[in-house]
Amino acid sequence: MKSWRDGRTTAQRGYGGRWQRARAAFLVRHPLCVFCRRQGRIAIAEVVDHIKPHRGDLKMFWDRNNWQVLCKVCHDRDKKRIETGNVKVQIGIDGWPVEG
Ligand SMILES: [Zn+2]
Repeated sequence: MKSWRDGRTTAQRGYGGRWQRARAAFLVRHPLCVFCRRQGRIAIAEVVDHIKPHRGDLKMFWDRNNWQVLCKVCHDRDKKRIETGNVKVQIGIDGWPVEG
């Protein structure tokens, strides 16, 4: 007798839990905010951030080389700059990001 529970639902539920566990483990291994550390400050990291926006790309999403840990202050303050300025994205004269 086959169960309606087989298949997708488990994997879908597991996705969020997998990320929660992965980021928690990452924060344990990388406890200090990388931005603050660059400026010689010590701050406990609370957020695992994607260095390059993954835009739904699972490979980039799970690539730990694309992860960085930030404290809340840095995350909230710098997120905008990172997504529009630092990472290969330039803003064109029309105000839209120019890629490449
Ligand atoms: Zn910080």
